[in-house]
Amino acid sequence: MKTSENKILVTSPLLPDLQDFNEYLRQIWDSKWLTNNGSFHQQFEKALAEYLGVEYISVFTNGTLPLITALQALGLKKGEVITTPYSFVATTHSIWWNQLKPVFVDVEPTTGNIDPEKIEAAITENTVAIMPVHVYGQPCDNERIDVIAKRHNLKVIYDAAHAFGVRKEGKSILEWGDVSTLSFHATKVFGTIEGGALICHSAEMKHQIDNLKNFGFRGETVVEAPGINGKMDEVRAAFGLLNLKQIDAAIEARHNVAMRYREAIDKIEGLSYLVEQSDIRYNYGYFPIFVDETRYGISRDALYEKLKANNIFGRRYFYPLISTFEPYKDFPSAALENLPIATKMAEQVLCLPMHHALSEEDVKRIIRGVLK
Ligand SMILES: *Cc1c(COP(=O)(O)O)cnc(C)c1O
Repeated sequence: MKTSENKILVTSPLLPDLQDFNEYLRQIWDSKWLTNNGSFHQQFEKALAEYLGVEYISVFTNGTLPLITALQALGLKKGEVITTPYSFVATTHSIWWNQLKPVFVDVEPTTGNIDPEKIEAAITENTVAIMPVHVYGQPCDNERIDVIAKRHNLKVIYDAAHAFGVRKEGKSILEWGDVSTLSFHATKVFGTIEGGALICHSAEMKHQIDNLKNFGFRGETVVEAPGINGKMDEVRAAFGLLNLKQIDAAIEARHNVAMRYREAIDKIEGLSYLVEQSDIRYNYGYFPIFVDETRYGISRDALYEKLKANNIFGRRYFYPLISTFEPYKDFPSAALENLPIATKMAEQVLCLPMHHALSEEDVKRIIRGVLK
């Protein structure tokens, strides 16, 4: 077995130029203002709003707190929230931390996103919201989700952790629903080491969210709600500001890798990938492939191990399903027969290495690895 070649990891963080970052650090050192809505925090929010094409955005110290805070900001105190098991575990945890009950609904095989067709059957008199995920940056079917939400008077919170910069027909998909959240974790397309954001649709709500992420303070002496500390510091806001300058180039590099992968996988019996919808500007955050064992010849896990033996580290993302984890596995909606599509996808999926810094040589090596 060849293990002498260098390691190819599933992702690699987007890092600002160190000299540029140093210059910003010097400014922060000089100002002695490290957090609490400093100048970089303000600049970063403004630049993000502009880049993303949204009006109201609040940055956070990670991508989980905006989810938790979103449910607080919408005043959801009791009841059930319909969500997808095919996501990162933070989606469901945020519901749990609000003492709301997650209810799992199966996904569409074409996108991996919650299946609007199956949402209504899961609605009860206790349902208060829907929390879909744009998984791998594939936009959800927002039109159908909207119709259902309106009909049943439900809030919609999009976990858009994978959808940085994704646009449909030229418009940001972060404007969908009541609110959307982003993650700027180092493993994501756009990163601030740790970080995240909450996008809403009014100045009033942004104000409320800004207070909630600062312990619920309104002004110096008034606490208007039981808030939390979700603030992003100046160092990471500066890091993000610099990364915004190179994000388009990074997405373009990822796009090129995705095209190479597709071309190769089209010729391999038993492997498939998610097909793009039309008129979407994708961010190529992930490249999931699905292994049909009978036609491909070996299982997903066998392929995963084979790549590992060649120093290529894919990730079985999302496997296992959230609904199979200890805190949730006994929920009626977690039953396998309720989630056949998600279960199958989780068993077949493997995310190939995907990032802006993969070389042509790396891509060739990965493609050789997945060839039978
Ligand atoms: C990464 C991620 C989160 C959580 O973000 P953190 O920044 O790691 O807290 C939430 N939802 C999804 C779908 C994610 O992939």
